[in-house]
Amino acid sequence: MEVLQIRHGLLLFLLAAVRAQVNPGVCRYPLGMTGGQILDEDITASSQWSESTAARYGRLDFDDGDGDGAWCPDIVADADIGGPREFLQVDLRSLHFVTLVGTQGRHADGMGNEFAQRYRIKYSRDGSRWVAWQDRSGRKVIEGNRNAYDVVLKDLEPPIIARYIRFMPIADNSMIVCMRVELYGCEWLDGLVSYSAPAGQDMIYRGLDVHLNDSVYDGTVGLLMEQGLGQLTDGAWGRDDFLHSHVYGAWPGYDYVGWTNESFPRGHVEMTFEFDRVRNFTSMKVHCSNMFSRGVRMFRQATCHFRTSESDWESQAVSFHPPVDRVSQGARFVTVPLGDRMASAIRCRLAFNEAWMMISEVAFQSGEDPVHKVDESNTRILIGCLVAVIVILLAVIVIILWRQVWQKMLEKASRRILDDELSARLAIQTQAFSFHHSSQSSGDMSNSNSTYERIFPLCSSDYQEPSRLIRKLPEFAQSLEDLAGSSKSSTPPQACGSDGAPHYAEADIVSLQEGATGSKSYSSVTAVNMSLLSGKDRDMREFPRDKLTFKEKLGEGQFGEVHLCEAEGMQEFIKRNLPEAVNDCLNTAEGGSDTPVLVAVKTLREDANKDARNDFLKEIRIMSRLRDPNIVSLLAVCVECDLLCMITEYMENGDLNQFLSSHQLNDETQSSDKATVSYSNLISMCTQIASGMKYLSSLNLVHRDLATRNCLVGKNYTIKIADFGMSRNLYRGDYYRIQGRAVLPIRWMSWESILLGKFTMASDVWAFGVTLWEIMTLCKEQPYSQFSDEQVIENTGEFFRDQGKQVYLPRPACCPAVLYSSLMLGCWRRNAKQRPTFQEIFSQLGESQA
Ligand code: AMP
Repeated sequence: MEVLQIRHGLLLFLLAAVRAQVNPGVCRYPLGMTGGQILDEDITASSQWSESTAARYGRLDFDDGDGDGAWCPDIVADADIGGPREFLQVDLRSLHFVTLVGTQGRHADGMGNEFAQRYRIKYSRDGSRWVAWQDRSGRKVIEGNRNAYDVVLKDLEPPIIARYIRFMPIADNSMIVCMRVELYGCEWLDGLVSYSAPAGQDMIYRGLDVHLNDSVYDGTVGLLMEQGLGQLTDGAWGRDDFLHSHVYGAWPGYDYVGWTNESFPRGHVEMTFEFDRVRNFTSMKVHCSNMFSRGVRMFRQATCHFRTSESDWESQAVSFHPPVDRVSQGARFVTVPLGDRMASAIRCRLAFNEAWMMISEVAFQSGEDPVHKVDESNTRILIGCLVAVIVILLAVIVIILWRQVWQKMLEKASRRILDDELSARLAIQTQAFSFHHSSQSSGDMSNSNSTYERIFPLCSSDYQEPSRLIRKLPEFAQSLEDLAGSSKSSTPPQACGSDGAPHYAEADIVSLQEGATGSKSYSSVTAVNMSLLSGKDRDMREFPRDKLTFKEKLGEGQFGEVHLCEAEGMQEFIKRNLPEAVNDCLNTAEGGSDTPVLVAVKTLREDANKDARNDFLKEIRIMSRLRDPNIVSLLAVCVECDLLCMITEYMENGDLNQFLSSHQLNDETQSSDKATVSYSNLISMCTQIASGMKYLSSLNLVHRDLATRNCLVGKNYTIKIADFGMSRNLYRGDYYRIQGRAVLPIRWMSWESILLGKFTMASDVWAFGVTLWEIMTLCKEQPYSQFSDEQVIENTGEFFRDQGKQVYLPRPACCPAVLYSSLMLGCWRRNAKQRPTFQEIFSQLGESQA
């Protein structure tokens, strides 16, 4: 890295020595997002989804293993009117000439799939005046990434001169975006912050419109151009013939800013240049057209005044008469000596020498520039030194490359060893489980059929590579030992399934929450709630609580109770709020517009701690953006007082687990009182869930807790996915973190979610496989019901080792062999990339339904 820095500095030095102007073709050095020269503290963002996707992780091609591999904003960026709001900001500490930007998404070694398809850039030189970048055709939106892996580089035409740069991702359909970026360019040694001049004029040349305006000027433009930089500092010089341009398809005169003496009775054009600080100016170079055959000549005289403070211009001016060239019509740089004057602003009057004067570039040399630190007499010594430095650098580069090759070879070898070690550790764990298992009574084992497997360690730092897991494994195994011990004394779960079997380790959550926060109840105020709901979420309208009439308790969930209520005035309210999507699901007696609507009201328990409150609001935020026939619709919220609640459509047949366990397959021989469902009903249910999940995956939203208990059943076997309390953006490391511990549905979880803490679309696919299995068994038993929790985790280790010892859920009696082998087993493939996508699952189920 130092080598690169030295090389970078050296090139800049040579560049500056050869020519003072910036050459955009050469000025394309990475400015230090990847290399680390830009410090973490100089990378900030409007928001972050979680600590592990903070701004400092937004470095292109950079992954230190601690973060989730990119910057991801908290709130989804939208192509709303007014442009995107979220941004990743880089402070370059000094003015830079930025010619190129690179962006990349987040893949997290195959576990992520987030990227910004489009984005915008804003920049500022002083941190207060921000300019939206636009290309030479006025387009502000930049096409970004198409996948999470590849780096997409975009030339900035025109380049940017700025200290602060903001990347502002744009996403449609509430898609979650993540970015890693790099800036390329070089330091802007001129120190010029802005120039002001009369606006460029239009010339008619032989019937041709020649626009001599400054088309990329980024300040204010009226009769005068003020406070900006533009074509005169874009590093592109005009051609000899001003009618032609370097820019393809540009209009005649594009490269030049020009004025006619007819508009300037005093015979000169006045330009003011403002700099970042007081500098010792030696010269100014002005690139001029000299096409005298077309009435254009370089200026006759330049008279410059200087100012060091905000007050007055110094009376003593510098004047310069360039020699008049009556022979060559070539455009050229004219160097105006500035006599080593100290100034932070320079005002120059350029006198006309012909009907027109046109300039395309202005550059300044000051005592700060390396070129002036070079004593000409020492040139030979300097060249000698440079050659020596280059030789040393080459030697260093060779050594580094050599070391890298070695390191790679060593890494490969150590990875192999680490994998072996991990397998060995898991084997030790297996023994530990077997030990606990054998020491437990069978009564203990029968206690272990809770859906969420009590307490399992998982915190944000648990997103890790297998090698990092190894370091944690002793602690991991210890926690599991604790877990095995605690299972005997754990508080009985509160909520029960229809079979009376405990479904939620709710008591554990509650007691842990209380442990974490005491019995403190959070008396939050509306402002806090509302501030947590932002942007589009605020469109989710507040429903007057007094218009809700309690009917019955429907159930109890992670956050609190769910009630069936009658909502007065809801229809009118919904029609305004969510017209088409939700109207079909209103449950009214008569269907008139004043008729009360039956709704499900989910409340946050009063003593909920801050984490639960934030998660509840997050669930609202997630749900408010979801519109799909197979996702339960959020109709309204009550967040304007302490008791938060969300109002969703009412699904009259409750959750799918309860529903199916009280039904029987209609071709079963033995008759019973139970209601029946047909096989095609079951497949239709699976297809609907796949369809809902397909929609979620199109938004890159990972549910994390897909199971029949979290699907709701409406009329005619309509299924809708609910319970987004656990769903997170991929990067949110803390699942439901309570003192570093979480309650996890391990029987539905993929091996990588359990062992590595990785939750992805592919782990949702795994859970879908288990859900499919539940449906095909009509929820008559829990997955792996014959296994204790410890054995389930032990089996997870077998999935990791993949030595053929892993136990798969068996084929349910009513499930055709082909569906089992191609779909269900496909969802449980060890390699996440080989599992089917929800699109594929949906198509396959559709075919089997046909
Ligand atoms: P939850 O907190 O979402 O897990 O809900 C707990 C229980 O309440 C579920 O298992 C359902 O039985 C019931 N429930 C939740 N939402 C609804 C709804 N929209 N319609 C009918 N029942 C619901």
